[in-house]
Amino acid sequence: MLKHQIPTTPTNYALWYAYVGQSSPELNRQLDEVVNQYSTCPPSQGERLYQAYLSDPIELDVIELRQNLDAMVTDLSQSLKDTNVDANQFQSKINSNVERLNKIENEGFSIDEVLSLVKNLVSDAADIKNSTLHFTEQLAHAQSEINQLKVQLKKSEHDMHYDALTGALNRRAFNKDIKGLVEQNPQGLCLIITDIDHFKLFNDTYGHQLGDQVLKAVARRLGESCHEGSKLYRFGGEEFALLVPKSQLGRARQLAESMRRSLEKLVLKDKRKDQRVDNVRASFGVAQYQDKDSDSTLIERADKQLYEAKRLGRNRVMPIT
Ligand code: GH3
Ligand code: MG
Ligand code: MG
Repeated sequence: MLKHQIPTTPTNYALWYAYVGQSSPELNRQLDEVVNQYSTCPPSQGERLYQAYLSDPIELDVIELRQNLDAMVTDLSQSLKDTNVDANQFQSKINSNVERLNKIENEGFSIDEVLSLVKNLVSDAADIKNSTLHFTEQLAHAQSEINQLKVQLKKSEHDMHYDALTGALNRRAFNKDIKGLVEQNPQGLCLIITDIDHFKLFNDTYGHQLGDQVLKAVARRLGESCHEGSKLYRFGGEEFALLVPKSQLGRARQLAESMRRSLEKLVLKDKRKDQRVDNVRASFGVAQYQDKDSDSTLIERADKQLYEAKRLGRNRVMPIT
């Protein structure tokens, strides 16, 4: 930032922090381009890149946490150095005082001289006590700050991967997991995508809040039906996805079918408004990994099957076999 005379504003700091951390190759490429063109990064360009690549609040949280940690470590190591210097000075003072005390026997010091030596020792001891006390206080302060940061970090990590409404894993986690599975463990990988039928009607009939309750209940039901190793994600508004590793199309179909039936039995009651919702239905599209699939072609095929299920009248699993 110094080299290109870029002001150390929070925006620029976050931008260049991400640049050095190489968190986004595309951001790095664009920043390089801007700096090549302008020999610096003008505020308008910085703002544009910040909006495009960094204004994700969760990522900002993590950057802020890192900055807090960095600042704390710097403070602590400076404090440790100071205390170390103080301790060394104290050691040499003690040495010289002890040397002089040793001479007392040989050279017959007066009581006043002895007293003054002892006074020096007492005052030096008080200095080192203050110095270590200060350091201990800082350590205790750092400890409590670290504990707070740990809690925040855990929350940020959780928020990063989970959907706030349903508690299911979110789209970000889905993108990461499907990519990882396709790259590393694709054999038998199946993807189920499900979309609640006529969900808009729930919102329109009972209100958005009850719509939210339906979403929560559906997520819970689908989560309960998850097999070992399979994971549930909120894929979009009223769409969920399941990744089922090491399976087969037929087995994944059966899983989807049992989920479909389980949703049919779902009953929600809102006692205050005397409302009862028992008509939750959903359509399912299933696809299995095939050679040369990428994450997006696999999603595309499951999506196509879901579309077919909708087209054929909803409340069904596709393909049929
Ligand atoms: P289809 O059977 O074709 O899927 O019909 P649909 O009504 O389910 O589909 P459509 O895409 O028309 O409507 C989806 C609705 O889901 C629209 C949107 O307002 C609602 N929705 C998306 N996210 C949420 C949410 O978090 N809470 C609530 N209450 N509604 C949501
Ligand atoms: Mg939809
Ligand atoms: Mg729908």
